[in-house]
Amino acid sequence: MTGVFSLLPELRGAEHGLLLAPLGDDEGEDIARYLAVGGYAPLVAPGRLLDRIAAVGLRGRGGAGFPAAVKIRAVRDAPGPRVVVANGEEGEPGSVKDRWLLRHRPHTVLDGLRLAAAMTGAERGCVYLSDAHAERAVRRALAECSLDLRIDVVRTEHTYVAGEESAVVRRIDGGPALPTAKPPRPFERGVGGAPTLVANVETLARIALMYSRPDVADAVAGTHLVTLSGAGAGAGAGAALVEVPAGTHLKVLADLCGHGTADAVVLGGLFGGLYGEGWTDLPLDHDRLLAAGGALGCGALHFLRPEDCPVAVATEAVAYLAAQSARQCGVCVSGTRALAGTLESVGCGEAGHEAVDKLHRWSRQLPGRGACGLLDAAARIVGTLLAHFPDRIDAHRRAGCPACEGDAPEDGRRFTVPVP
Ligand code: SF4
Repeated sequence: MTGVFSLLPELRGAEHGLLLAPLGDDEGEDIARYLAVGGYAPLVAPGRLLDRIAAVGLRGRGGAGFPAAVKIRAVRDAPGPRVVVANGEEGEPGSVKDRWLLRHRPHTVLDGLRLAAAMTGAERGCVYLSDAHAERAVRRALAECSLDLRIDVVRTEHTYVAGEESAVVRRIDGGPALPTAKPPRPFERGVGGAPTLVANVETLARIALMYSRPDVADAVAGTHLVTLSGAGAGAGAGAALVEVPAGTHLKVLADLCGHGTADAVVLGGLFGGLYGEGWTDLPLDHDRLLAAGGALGCGALHFLRPEDCPVAVATEAVAYLAAQSARQCGVCVSGTRALAGTLESVGCGEAGHEAVDKLHRWSRQLPGRGACGLLDAAARIVGTLLAHFPDRIDAHRRAGCPACEGDAPEDGRRFTVPVP
């Protein structure tokens, strides 16, 4: 199955404020439709909305899963003036949810940005994106609504690191979309030096939904937009964007997009690593995935067929990350290059025990040493490959891998998913 759909019985089919409209509806969102479902309603008590966000435990949807209310309060409590940013630049390959939202639910995102501005006391907003279709939709939506907030649209290039929050601030300020050393974090000193809330567009859309649908606020907070894809013919094979409750088992999601017989899954775009035996028991849950050595990240899942080689997939992923390194931190440049080169030599059957020992060591030593999460992602892929697929690594070293024979190395395209 491909396309966009919802698994939320309590929301699906309702007339009001859905992130994902009922099946078959691809009309998108215009101002009349959005106002008709209660959008852009005056916000008389911003503190009460913030309390509700805290009470239902909404977590950010950009990847880190940080509590949204804590981030909003940090900006609100910093000395003004303040800025709010809708971050729609999703760098993880295999994730399309943010571009889909901007293209099809621009008013919901803008409404969330308006509410975030009211809660933080910001007088300036910004929509940050790289997708041309999304930019057109957002500009059209801005022309349709009249908000009491200055909102700029800033376009960036599409790279792995361009959506990292310090890169977002740097790009909006006219610099390159590259991460900076922290502290200061954007909530302390962000756009133009002002305390800045950089919020993922799904987070903002959920805030807008919670405001217009307080009756289902818990369900809205406990729901994820998840991009599913799998190995197989063509980029984004068996791809789907689904809206599902937290806790849904990954096996259910694999079945949905025709990958129920998968042997393994890549979690969180590339950020959450590779998971093998036992993946079917994993739920879509930040804490449970972290406890299992993975990460939910942006929520994208890429399933591997039994005939796909996890060593080849990990090699391709790490090579992609090495190529995407912003080359600012020496440890990232040398670390990703060493991981990619050593993995490749393992994959080619040219590496001995020492190479595998090095991979073990690096996967433990490198996380947390770069200015952004790219190095962590590369190290986690290697660490999870070593933990879940020791037999496959041995097979490569001893006699070659039948699954890889004749396969030309790819360049990260297998993780790319078209926006539905
Ligand atoms: S960790 Fe890598 S990608 Fe991230 S800022 Fe440093 S060099 Fe750039």
